[in-house]
Amino acid sequence: MRREDTLEEAVFRAGVRGWLEDNAALRSDEPVGPLDHSPEAEADAWEKMKDWQRKKFDAGWAAITWPTEYGGRGGTTIESMIFNEEQSRFDVPIGFIAASLGMIGPALMRFGTEGQKKYLKTMLRGDEVWCQLFSEPEAGSDLAAVRTSGRVEGDELVINGQKVWTTSAQFADKGFIVLRTNPDVPKHMGISFALIDMKQPGIEVRPLVTMRGDRHFNEVFLNDVRTPLDHVVNGIDQGWPVTTFVLMNEGAFIGTTIQTRTTATSLIEDAKRTGRIEESLVRQRLGETYARERVLGLLQERLKAALLDGRMPDVDGSVLKILTAEWGHERALTATWLQRADGLLAGGDAPMHGLWQDQVLSRGAMTVGGGTLEVHRNGLGERALGLPREPRFDRDLPFKELKTGG
Ligand SMILES: Cc1cc2nc3c(=O)[nH]c(=O)nc-3n(C[C@H](O)[C@H](O)[C@H](O)COP(=O)(O)OP(=O)(O)OC[C@H]3O[C@@H](n4cnc5c(N)ncnc54)[C@H](O)[C@@H]3O)c2cc1C
Repeated sequence: MRREDTLEEAVFRAGVRGWLEDNAALRSDEPVGPLDHSPEAEADAWEKMKDWQRKKFDAGWAAITWPTEYGGRGGTTIESMIFNEEQSRFDVPIGFIAASLGMIGPALMRFGTEGQKKYLKTMLRGDEVWCQLFSEPEAGSDLAAVRTSGRVEGDELVINGQKVWTTSAQFADKGFIVLRTNPDVPKHMGISFALIDMKQPGIEVRPLVTMRGDRHFNEVFLNDVRTPLDHVVNGIDQGWPVTTFVLMNEGAFIGTTIQTRTTATSLIEDAKRTGRIEESLVRQRLGETYARERVLGLLQERLKAALLDGRMPDVDGSVLKILTAEWGHERALTATWLQRADGLLAGGDAPMHGLWQDQVLSRGAMTVGGGTLEVHRNGLGERALGLPREPRFDRDLPFKELKTGG
């Protein structure tokens, strides 16, 4: 399990804590105010997220492990973990900027040209925020089936098609997009990965309203959108390795997300306050919820400990993703069950301003975003259990001859 900090790490931790104490408020376990999913509140939250990112950048905390030449701190993985641990105790707006940085940043460092790497500093400072234009109406789990086309015209790529479920596209300045640039070769081989400007003519962003009432993601229509050829990462038709690298980083981020106000411990405290802790059935369900949360926490510690020692983790990231999604949903259901009839209410009428109800309704985000649970289970079957790979009949045929390619 997790070892104690070394002397250097303890000094680093104290520095992080001191800076956070000077610049942010400690997270409170008190019930939060009303949830506001209006477009105005979302835009306001977005600006706060950018401000916090800029503040961290200016103080040298925006990306602990990134090289200093790209605006990072040039630090170690353990320092990055320490920073995240400390930051999670404070009430700070991290949100989608962290997710998008975690996806495109490492991909540009690994596959980008020097010109493309120039974007790293501006994205790290929060000056330009990026969205992920991967999924399409006919390409999600099977991402290599993308049909949005990229046509080379002079020294530009001309893009036409539609993307969907694009998180925060309505606020994004730039996007990284997966395109079909060659339909005459098997599907994984005719894909390019490009960087585009989201604020150009030809891009139409239509927010989709979720059952929680927020505009988390969007449909994005691309009509003769242009990007210079030098914005294609890893070369024309060579985008698949970049795409899979981004997906790997996305999965790792999602599996380790923590929601601190909606924990089993806060449920137990509630049950104590209301006296329901004396009921045997309540104790049993709370016991289950608490045990699951502990198991998840210990699995995360095991994963971290392996990374610290430079070992291959013996916990598969998909296990964390599946358990976080399924047990998180169970915990939210238990919370509304504990509220008795009040559990049927929503918004300001519900206990804690409907925070748990909001969690119940966000189930899809955890079970589908970053790869569906079924797809993660398939991966586990192959990687962890050594089961035979799923049969694939479309690997060698040109894309245009596939049913999805028509
Ligand atoms: C909150 C959220 C945020 C998102 N943000 C983004 C974003 O920013 N950018 C972006 O590009 N996309 C984003 N997505 C889209 C997400 O990546 C896709 O929804 C996901 O990959 C699934 O694709 P799909 O919706 O097309 O479902 P499909 O792939 O059509 O799957 C439909 C059903 O079939 C099952 N299925 C599919 N293939 C298999 C298989 N081989 N074996 C067993 N079952 C299978 C799936 O599990 C699912 O139940 C987001 C989604 C959510 C929920």
